[in-house]
Amino acid sequence: MYSPPSGPSPSTRSGFILFLVAAAAVFVRTQTLVDPPSGESFDASHYAVTLDLDVTDGTITGKARIELTMRAAAAVLVLDIGALAVDSVRSGGASTPFQQSARRLIVTLPAPASAGERLRLDVTYHGTPRTGLTLLAGGGQAYTTFSTSQWMPVVDAPADRATLDLEVSMPAGWRAAGSGREVERRTRDGRTTYRWRNERETSSFLYGFVAGAFAEATGRRGNVLLRYLGSPFSADELQRIFRDTPDMLAFFEERAGVPYPADSYSQALVATSGGQELAGLSHMSEAYGRSVLADATATSLIAHELAHQWWGNLLTNHDWTHFWLNEGFATFMAAAYKESARGRHAYLADVEGWRTRVERLRASGTDRPLVFPEWNRPTADDRAVVYQKGALVLHELRALLGDEPFWTAVRAYTREFAGRDVTSPDLQRAFEASSGRDLRAFFDQWVNLR
Ligand SMILES: [Zn+2]
Repeated sequence: MYSPPSGPSPSTRSGFILFLVAAAAVFVRTQTLVDPPSGESFDASHYAVTLDLDVTDGTITGKARIELTMRAAAAVLVLDIGALAVDSVRSGGASTPFQQSARRLIVTLPAPASAGERLRLDVTYHGTPRTGLTLLAGGGQAYTTFSTSQWMPVVDAPADRATLDLEVSMPAGWRAAGSGREVERRTRDGRTTYRWRNERETSSFLYGFVAGAFAEATGRRGNVLLRYLGSPFSADELQRIFRDTPDMLAFFEERAGVPYPADSYSQALVATSGGQELAGLSHMSEAYGRSVLADATATSLIAHELAHQWWGNLLTNHDWTHFWLNEGFATFMAAAYKESARGRHAYLADVEGWRTRVERLRASGTDRPLVFPEWNRPTADDRAVVYQKGALVLHELRALLGDEPFWTAVRAYTREFAGRDVTSPDLQRAFEASSGRDLRAFFDQWVNLR
């Protein structure tokens, strides 16, 4: 369910009227590809998705059930759909008219729904995902990256959390990991099908899976099963690459003050990846895996993606203007782990790297506050603001406040907002509460829009 921690609902009255006008315009000009905003009139609460992967053709077919609650009266529902082709939509079991704009599915209800009403949509679809889902026939792999609407109809907004049932059918014998607890694995007629249930309400950009002709190694930390997947690596190599994972997990649990929130965590090495966190799993590239085999200390990306299971996944930026709360935190936490494992000098080397990058931003005139007015088509410098400058700001706060107030605030913030979305003022309040200091000037200098 959508539960903003503070401030007005994003669906203000004027916003809602504008939305009706925009939706009406789409209907009048049926061939005009206007993208109306998605999810404005409702909260998605549960998705149940069945996906069939044809890795030879690079295509998918899917069925999605979307359970939602109306936040405002509306006759039109808008979802994100990417480049997929929708074959049918049913609402409460009855066939329902729909249209597609460039990136949206626009459903016309048989009768307007009122605020508070609960609805169920069933959508069948097929297509060739351009991004968001990589299908490699020759490489024997399939994996998702960030853009969930490229493989299922969904509300992309990070603040609209929902539970997920995900069933994926793939070539027989493939190993896979997906968002949630594995509840079924069966092989029949040359196909293996996995089903996962994610019972914790999660932002949809974190839904996903990895699948392939992978080798597998496992580990354990407390009650958490650790799975390491990849090819062309051997099980022994996977074990070496990911051997610090139990230690990292213990470190982040202690710094978060919140236990790891699931019973398994999977990591996969796939053909191409810059590192992607998903709910209960992450993927990194095969080239990165080889770099860890060559240098056992090159584990920052492993730590960064694991840190996201708290900062980014459990606490999620309310919208992309506060993306630094995901990425600055994960970058900082990877260095904090390095400090605990290899000493203060290793941490300070990372801090100096961040500082040098921020100085380059300043020299090139591309330095900005951490809170962005928009996050569309970010440049490499924009990403450096969110990742490296974000991490540097957390280091500066730690230096300003001292270790005890700093880590007390991190724990309080993580506990308070676990399972919710966050904005930068939420973090400011946590640091002010633990230190007893007024941090308005600090946040105005580094974080807030001027
Ligand atoms: Zn990240």
